[in-house]
Amino acid sequence: MIPFNFDLDVPEAVMALLSVLSAHGFEAYLAGGCVRDSLMGRAPRDWDVATSASPDQAAALFPAHDVIGTGIKHGTIMVLMHGEAMEVTTFRGPAGSLEDDLSRRDLTVNAMAWGPERGLVDPFDGAGDIRRGLIRATGDPDARFREDGLRVLRALRFASAFGWSIEADTAAAIHRDRELLLGVAPERIQVELTQMLCGPGVCPLLLEYGDVLAVPMPELTPLFGFDQRNPHHLMELWGHTAAVVNAAPPEPVLRWAALLHDIGKPDRFTLDEEGIGYFYGHAPRSAEIAEDVMERLRFDNATSQRATLLVARHEDLPWGSVPHMRRTIRRMMSAHGPEATAQLIALRRADMAGHAPEPEALAACGRAEDLLHELQEEGACLTLRDMAVRGGDLLGMGYEGRALGAALAFLLEAVVDERVPNEREALMSYLREHGEGPRGRSTCQSGGPQDTGAGPSRSAGTS
Ligand code: ATP
Ligand code: MG
Repeated sequence: MIPFNFDLDVPEAVMALLSVLSAHGFEAYLAGGCVRDSLMGRAPRDWDVATSASPDQAAALFPAHDVIGTGIKHGTIMVLMHGEAMEVTTFRGPAGSLEDDLSRRDLTVNAMAWGPERGLVDPFDGAGDIRRGLIRATGDPDARFREDGLRVLRALRFASAFGWSIEADTAAAIHRDRELLLGVAPERIQVELTQMLCGPGVCPLLLEYGDVLAVPMPELTPLFGFDQRNPHHLMELWGHTAAVVNAAPPEPVLRWAALLHDIGKPDRFTLDEEGIGYFYGHAPRSAEIAEDVMERLRFDNATSQRATLLVARHEDLPWGSVPHMRRTIRRMMSAHGPEATAQLIALRRADMAGHAPEPEALAACGRAEDLLHELQEEGACLTLRDMAVRGGDLLGMGYEGRALGAALAFLLEAVVDERVPNEREALMSYLREHGEGPRGRSTCQSGGPQDTGAGPSRSAGTS
């Protein structure tokens, strides 16, 4: 049973705003998300007011400097009172009544209002659906979705965020009307998809509504029902993907990386003589597709670059002995930074959750996390800025220009690999002994590993 209470804990500023409007003869109610959240015992994110006053009429009731009119074309003004910013929106719909306004909202749980005199106004039994844990369109679902295709995804987003079920007629309409999403701005789709992916109820929704997600992301279609023919994988590819999303920490970048981490697998599928499936090179292929998908959904560069990096590198985590892992983790931290390294470990752990159980691999993830913390606490040298020599030191040894840059990079690699301590004298003699000379003349005897990437990967492209 869903916990149910109705302690509407309305801030004073919000009450004051409602009473200014009603003192001037206008109807004024709290509406939408804040009523829903209060009924669910959650703290509302914001307080939205629906009123019979037009934006101009409402604005005239408050000092001009407390009114922001940027949404005025859409019937909305923002009012600042006692440090609280509230959206005040004129009743939508031709009738200009509260009931008409509520009937235009997407879901029963979002179509409730509350006023100091009338109390709860709930024409579609949103409160009952909260008790039942049900997402249901207000009125005819097809009609609602045709008015705004985004509602198809909003239904999934709220079902995921609350871990609720979707009522049968609404569910059928979501499948039937999914292509309405083709007419919706990608930015809006991105916002709802991200919230859906980060919700605790996401896993069964992915399994049931893959066809809906494939409208904005057709690249997902080959994953559905794809048999990986590999003993590591008990699940078909989409089932695995849903399990990995579910197991990843609920942060946008990680959930997106989880959704897209194997999207290139069907492209890279090969079978050996024994009929075992392999996916060599699938991680970089997945990253290419991920980049396309995220660009199409208008992600900001930082989010898309990070998610793409995680996808491209999702197989790089080291296995084996602690010294070997330590070196690889240092390389990853140096190449991608500590935060991305922590995310790569988290993604790897989530990836395990979608596999046949591999206790060894899980233990390796734990060791990787410990090593990462250890290295962070040690303040390990990971970048040129952390190094105990500067360009100036090498100028004195005759290095300049490109050779100087190369020498610094050579030393950093040696320090990251713990082949030389991060101390000025030690570094300079290491360079003298093992480095290229200042004029590119090689005095190098044993260069050591040159791979500055994120290290070896154990698996044969199967994870
Ligand atoms: P959140 O907690 O994410 O803010 P919310 O329900 O407040 O949830 P908003 O996007 O802030 O969501 O919208 C506020 C209200 O406006 C909703 O509760 C709903 O009543 C209505 N609404 C928002 N978007 C739509 C839409 N696309 N179609 C119909 N009604 C909508
Ligand atoms: Mg809101």
